Amino acid sequence: MLEGAGIFTVADLLWALPYRYIDRGNIAPIGELGSRQGVFQAEGETASLLGTILDLRQSVSRYKRMPITEALLGDETGSIRLIWFNQPHLPKMISQGDTLFVWGQVLQDRRGFVMQAPSWEIISGQGPEAANDNTASPKDSFTSRYYPLYRRIASIAGRARKKMVADALAIVEAEDNFLPLELAKGLPGLMDALRLLHSPPDHCDPTELESHGTPAHQRLILEELFAFALGAELRRSSRLERRGDKVPKSPELSAKLKSFLPFHLTPAQRVAFREIVDDLTSGRVMHRLLQGDVGSGKTLVAFLAMAMVAETGGQAALLVPTEVLARQHSESIGGLLGESAGQMQLLMGQMKAAEKRAAAERIANGGASYVVGTHSLFQEAITFSKLQLVVVDEQHRFGVRQREAIKAKGMDPHWLLMSATPIPRSLALALFGDMDQSVLDMLPPGRQPVQTHLFEPHDAERAWESIEREIAKGRQAFVVSPAIDASTNEGEQKISLRDITQMEALLRARFPSARISVVHGRLKSDEMAARMSDFIKGASHILLATTVIEVGVDIPNAAIMVVDHAERFGLSQLHQLRGRVGRGKVGGTFIMISKGETERLNALVQTSDGFRIAQKDLELRGPGDFFGTRQSGLPQFQVADLVRDRQLLFKCRDAAAAAVKRGLTPGQQDWLKFEQARLKLAEL
Ligand code: ADP
Ligand code: MG
Repeated sequence: MLEGAGIFTVADLLWALPYRYIDRGNIAPIGELGSRQGVFQAEGETASLLGTILDLRQSVSRYKRMPITEALLGDETGSIRLIWFNQPHLPKMISQGDTLFVWGQVLQDRRGFVMQAPSWEIISGQGPEAANDNTASPKDSFTSRYYPLYRRIASIAGRARKKMVADALAIVEAEDNFLPLELAKGLPGLMDALRLLHSPPDHCDPTELESHGTPAHQRLILEELFAFALGAELRRSSRLERRGDKVPKSPELSAKLKSFLPFHLTPAQRVAFREIVDDLTSGRVMHRLLQGDVGSGKTLVAFLAMAMVAETGGQAALLVPTEVLARQHSESIGGLLGESAGQMQLLMGQMKAAEKRAAAERIANGGASYVVGTHSLFQEAITFSKLQLVVVDEQHRFGVRQREAIKAKGMDPHWLLMSATPIPRSLALALFGDMDQSVLDMLPPGRQPVQTHLFEPHDAERAWESIEREIAKGRQAFVVSPAIDASTNEGEQKISLRDITQMEALLRARFPSARISVVHGRLKSDEMAARMSDFIKGASHILLATTVIEVGVDIPNAAIMVVDHAERFGLSQLHQLRGRVGRGKVGGTFIMISKGETERLNALVQTSDGFRIAQKDLELRGPGDFFGTRQSGLPQFQVADLVRDRQLLFKCRDAAAAAVKRGLTPGQQDWLKFEQARLKLAEL
C-alpha cells in the first residue's frame, strides 16, 4: 500500500509530512456549537470536533438511489449529526464506539446541527479501521496538543501510520551536515526537524506550523531546494566542459549578418546576441534560455543566432509549436534572407508526402541550412547533415523530450530556448536551472501602448463599436473565443458559455459587410493556413479564433483584440494574447469581456509588464497550471514550494554555485545522489 503512494524507503515515509495538525485548543465542545465565540457562530462556518460515534446507519436516498451514511457524534456536552453522501464503504471503516476527530462545515436544519461530508480521522476505537493499529492504549493517542493528520494511503489507519513513523524515527540516524553553513545556520538538524514535524511539541506556534514557517520546515525546504539547485549547477558545469561546435568569427560573417538586419537592434537585443555569440564561438555547448516580454523581439535575436551557424557551413533548426507559427516564421525568415531565401526549408507533419520527402532530403543532404518546423522535425525519420543549433520558440509548449530526442540521434547541438511569455524567475530556475539566461527587458522603439479594458457582457456593444471604428480606419480585428463547441466541454458541468459558432453568428449579424475568417484547432492544416493567410494579407477584416493564435502570430495591421469569456484564461495567456495587437506603428486596443473575476483580470488593465503579470499568475494558479497545460519536468518537492519559497531557491542557487566551485565532499555527493533519487530529479 505504501509503495502505491510512492513510499518505497524509510526516507520517503519520513518526508511525507502531516498535511495538517489538529490543535486541541481549537476543538469545540459539541454542546457549545453556535454559542461559543470564535468556534462557530454563523451557519456554514467550519468547526473541528472530537467525540464518540454513538450511532451509525446506512440508508439509500429515494431520489437517485444514492447511499447515505448518517452518524451521531457525541461528547460529554452534546451530540451532532454527521452525513456523508455516496460513500458506501464508510460503514466498513468507522464503527460505533470509535473516537473520531471530524472537521467540516456546520449547518443547521430542523433537527439541529449537522455536518455534511466532514473529513474525519479515527483517534481510537475497535472497528476494522482501527484493527491494523497496535498502539498500546487507544486513550493515550491524543494527549499532546497537536495531533498530526497524514494524507490517507489506501486502508492504512492514521494511527497505524503514526506508529510506523514513530518507529522509524526511533531507529533512523542520518548524518546531516550536507547543507552549506550559510544555509543551515540557526536551523535544526535534519532528523530533529523531521521529528518535530511528525509530532510537534506543545509550544510550537500554530500559525507557523500551518504556514510551513517553523525553522524545522525551513530546514527541510532548504534540503530539497539545495539538492535541486546543486544538481542543476553540476549539470551546467559539466556541460560547460563539453566540446561544442565552434563557430568561426570573421568580418565577412559580421557584414553578412548586418546585411540581413531590417532595423537596429535594441540595446537589450544587442546584449543578448552578444551573449549568444560568446557561447557559439567559445567551443562549449550553448544551453541558453532567451526570456523577454511579448513583442520584445526574440525572433530577430534567434534568427541572428541561426545565421551565425547557417552562414558558416552548419545547419540551424527553428522548432515551433504550431503550423501557423511555422509558416509565419518561415515567411519572415525568408524575408530577412532575401535573395538567399532558398537556403531555408519548412517541414511540417501535415505536408503532402512528396513535399515532405523533398524537404527531408534537403535537410539530410545539407541543401537547407535554415530549417523551420514543428515537432515533426524530430519525431519522424529526419536526419540532418550538420545540425549545430536548435532554436525552440515558445518553449513552454515543449517538454524536455525534444532535447532528449535530439540527443538520441547522437547529436549535441547548441540550444536556444525562447519562452512564450515571461516566466517568473523561480519557475525558470526550476525548469531551466542548468541553462544560462538572457533577458530582453525592453520593447523595440516606437511601440504604442495597448489600451486595455474590461467589460461586462452587457457592455459588449462597446467592444463591437471599437471594432467598427478600427475597421473603418482600415485596420483589422481579432476576436478570441474560448471554446470550439460549448456542448462538448469535457468533464465540466454545463456552463453558459458562448462558443465560437455562436460568436461567429453574432459577429456576422453585427458586421454584415465585414469579411470574417474563422480559425480553430479542428481545421485541416491547409484550410487553416488559407484562412490565416487571408487575414495576414488583409483580405479579411476580422479573425475569429480560438487560442490557436495565442502563440507568436505577428500581424502589424491588427489593431484590436476582443477576448470573450476572459475569465476562462490565465493572466499570462491573456497577456500573450494582448501581445498580438499594437505591433505596428499604430497603438492597439485589448478588450476583455467577462462576468466575474474582475479583480484578477484588472491586473492586466493595471500593468503591461509581463514579468509582473507572470509572477501574479504563478501565485494565483500554482506552478502546475501556470503553463496552461500541466507540464511535467517540474521538480516534485515534498515540502518546498516554488511560489512560497522562491527567495530560498535563489539563496540555494547562489550557495550551489559556490559549492560547485569549492568542490563537493564525497559525503555531499552521496547525499545529492540520494536526494535526487528521492525527488526524482534529473541526474547528471
Ligand atoms: P516576441 O519576442 O514576442 O517573439 P517578435 O520577435 O515577434 O516578438 O517581435 C515583435 C515585433 O517587433 C516584430 O514585428 C518585429 O519585427 C519587431 N522588432 C523586433 N526587433 C525590432 C527592433 N530592434 N526594432 C524594431 N522592431 C523590431
Ligand atoms: Mg515570438
